[in-house]
Amino acid sequence: MKAEPSVSTASAASSTAPAVDGRLSANENPFPPLPGVLESAVAAAASLNRYPDMACHRLTEELAGSLGVPAEHIATGTGSVGVTQQLLQATTGPGSEVLFAWRSFEAYPQLTETVGARSVRVPLVKGDVHDLTAMLDAITDRTRTIFICNPNNPTGTVVRRAELNHFLDWCPPETLVVLDEAYREFVHDDEVPDGIELYRDRPNVCVLRTFSKAYGLAGLRVGYAVAHEPVAAALRRTAVPFGVTQFAQDAAVESLRRADEMRERVGHLVAERARVHAALTEQGWGVPESHANFLWLRSGRHTAELAAACEREGIHVRAFPDEGVRVSIGTPATNDAFLHAAESHRKLLRNRPA
Ligand code: PMP
Repeated sequence: MKAEPSVSTASAASSTAPAVDGRLSANENPFPPLPGVLESAVAAAASLNRYPDMACHRLTEELAGSLGVPAEHIATGTGSVGVTQQLLQATTGPGSEVLFAWRSFEAYPQLTETVGARSVRVPLVKGDVHDLTAMLDAITDRTRTIFICNPNNPTGTVVRRAELNHFLDWCPPETLVVLDEAYREFVHDDEVPDGIELYRDRPNVCVLRTFSKAYGLAGLRVGYAVAHEPVAAALRRTAVPFGVTQFAQDAAVESLRRADEMRERVGHLVAERARVHAALTEQGWGVPESHANFLWLRSGRHTAELAAACEREGIHVRAFPDEGVRVSIGTPATNDAFLHAAESHRKLLRNRPA
């Protein structure tokens, strides 16, 4: 049975987002930029003959105010993936190791390779969650950086406060622990710690955030890190000069001032996440509880077929061959189109001789 979107969710989303938009492959926000944001970016176009503010002053001040941290603890970059690259350049190099769970964000091994360091991948355990005990065991004297993706991409699973605090307590103080919180705004579980709360008295913790997801500015490329002085200063040194455009800076400042509207939109997406999760579970797919704006279907050897079935409905998902499919939460109508494809494929599998 196909669940209907609630009236409030459907009308709120359709008033500002296109009804069916088949791109559910990149964890983008189906809503356009928040009110006033486009106008501020367009206004910035009048000074295209000028370089942007290299130090991102206004954005840094605005972030410092909204997060309650010193401005010196903030470093901006071209998306949080840009900041990740800065981080690896600043902390690692040939002979060093970068530790992360696997499967996790694909940029970790890619960027680790570009700086000549070695990736150490610790498999996720039952329920697709980080194995923090195995990660502690995997630390060596060559480990410079550890990524904890919370919520994890592509599984949407989380590390909770008690286990993360325990992990941080046992990490060598000279190893940088990066809490990648690209999807933080979609977390509605009090047991999942806010990295900003954890970094304050831990000089080896760095928090990564982005405007690409909840704020819907993926196309502008602006993200930031929050970390203590030596780390934040190193990130500023490794930044591409003038990398964050004035469009991005002004749009991000305006977006921060619209945080209440952002939270309202996120609320609709979180409600849709619950609806799609329930429908998929009813169809018989294994789907862990997600705390992000996407879901992870453990489709195993049927992955390619499921992705092809979605394509036929005009829905693009992210397929990881023989593992699973990651599907972003879109508008109710797009989610329905995806659910329809998933259900048809499920029926096909059920009726197929073993
Ligand atoms: N971290 C994670 C876990 C992500 O999934 C992404 C985007 N897919 C990013 C960082 C990077 O986002 P951006 O560079 O757009 O800020």
